[in-house]
Amino acid sequence: MTRVQPSPISSSVDFEKVGVQHGFLKLPYSRDDSAWGAVMIPITVVKRGQGPTALLTGANHGDEFEGPIALLDLASRLTEAEVKGRVIIVPGMNFPALQAGRRTSPIDKGNLNRAFPGRPDGTVTEKIADYFQRSLLPLAEVVLDIHSGGRTLEFLPFAAAHVLNDKAQEARCVAAMEAFNAPYSVKLREIDAVGMYDTAAEEMGKTFVSTELGGGGTPRAETLAIAKRGIRNLLIHAGIMKGSTDAAPSTQLDMPNANCFLTSEHRGILEPLVGLGATVASGDVIARVHNFEKTGRIPVDYRARLDGILAGRHFPGHVQPGDIIAVTAVPID
Ligand code: ZN
Repeated sequence: MTRVQPSPISSSVDFEKVGVQHGFLKLPYSRDDSAWGAVMIPITVVKRGQGPTALLTGANHGDEFEGPIALLDLASRLTEAEVKGRVIIVPGMNFPALQAGRRTSPIDKGNLNRAFPGRPDGTVTEKIADYFQRSLLPLAEVVLDIHSGGRTLEFLPFAAAHVLNDKAQEARCVAAMEAFNAPYSVKLREIDAVGMYDTAAEEMGKTFVSTELGGGGTPRAETLAIAKRGIRNLLIHAGIMKGSTDAAPSTQLDMPNANCFLTSEHRGILEPLVGLGATVASGDVIARVHNFEKTGRIPVDYRARLDGILAGRHFPGHVQPGDIIAVTAVPID
């Protein structure tokens, strides 16, 4: 039998204690500028009475600021009296990445959302993944992970639930996604689900909701309002907070196959020809890549590969081979 190694991360909050606690997950990280130093990941726990636990996270990718802002706001406001059950808030999941404003960790280049289940004796990013895998996820019934497009993508604001083998669990996740009530709702098939936090939570049978709320590496008033409202809606839906959830119309979108994703094969600057939310037909030219090294050249056309709406786009002006240029989604009646 292999010995189970404990996590090096210690928590300054007691998950069983009633009331509001603000503290840290302390991850020892010895380095040049701090010999016996640590990464201090902020955490808030609010607990009262009997009820389910919600685990709310932001900055799984450190260039996505919508989650951190909405969750810092919640952590500063949420009172014990408002809660029946427990709310665990980690606004900056990959905290070194959030400090750097980058998708991945500046310490080890780790992409936290590809690092699960992690390792207690691995890199800093793998240690964070392992702590969520073995210590935090088992505490929760409902898990919300707030993403956006970060610096390189921009999405229509949507909440997402995955297509799962366990249809009862899928129905729970879809109901929670609908309760979040983003302007768009997507039943998602991942391109690359290995190592994702989503997959870790779903494999434990959790009710899991993720989001893509805008992007471009900058928060917007509209997407922050969606995040704040959605978190509250989800906590009400879970029975943790009192009140009634919003029931604004949400357009259901499907991403049925790999034709949703248009990948660049060229390097250059990208000319978008349609905006987010626009209707596109299969074969429509939706973007062009210009080689800017020389005049007189014809740009390369990129065409939609199915009928739908533009749900996501490459954000920076520069594009390189392998970048996602566009994401097309299909509205469901
Ligand atoms: Zn993300």
